[in-house]
Amino acid sequence: MPLNKEFVGCASSNFRSGRPAPNRPEAIVIHIMAGSLRGTDLWFGNPASSVSAHYGVGKDGTVHQYVREEDTAFHAGTVDRPLWTSIKKTAAGTFVNPNYYTIGIEHEGFPDDDWTAAMQASSVALIAEIAARWQIPIDRDHIVRHHEIRLAKPCPGSKAPMDDLVRLASAAPVAPPALTQVTAISNLNVRAGVPSTAAPVRRVVTAGTVLPVAGFTATGQVVANNPFWYQDPAGDYFWAGNTNRPNPAT
Ligand SMILES: [Zn+2]
Repeated sequence: MPLNKEFVGCASSNFRSGRPAPNRPEAIVIHIMAGSLRGTDLWFGNPASSVSAHYGVGKDGTVHQYVREEDTAFHAGTVDRPLWTSIKKTAAGTFVNPNYYTIGIEHEGFPDDDWTAAMQASSVALIAEIAARWQIPIDRDHIVRHHEIRLAKPCPGSKAPMDDLVRLASAAPVAPPALTQVTAISNLNVRAGVPSTAAPVRRVVTAGTVLPVAGFTATGQVVANNPFWYQDPAGDYFWAGNTNRPNPAT
């Protein structure tokens, strides 16, 4: 069953639309709010905070979304003596801003609070969903503490059940995508067998055509910052940006 999420949003200056190419979500960062879910709603909605995360999970299991997954939230941008072995560096040896390639999940409470069963269950379901959408491996190298990026930050604290999150999310059933068709919003090329504009055009459909969808990939050729391509039942691909659902996950 898909997790019930409420899109709350945040101040427009507290996130960046899209992710700088070629970045895509490759890991999930676990945070603690050091406060309440309601307080976090207000903090992320306040331009003065200049921060955000993609999600917040309440102690009662409520899930709020502040930033779309394909956009860049400002939750783990400062790198300080990182412990995370898979943290990315540029060719020049500087750190890539972790916000560009991670999804941030905040959790209600303080670093020394025990996690409630409801909060853990929602977090597990959310991690499983995100990992399925972006083909992120569910292990401790891809589900990381904020502290592992920024050593001075005691976030999410010692009570965050990291190993349980990984173990339970790995085993969590993920509902199949409900998406079965999309509509072309402009003339659209269906490409033979490969999610790339380099693949031969199998056929061209006109705007308004309803196309059946068998699945999608988040790792197709990036066109206009969008890596999503739909696969039709014949195994051919078309770019999601030319449809009414440019992101199959939202
Ligand atoms: Zn944090």
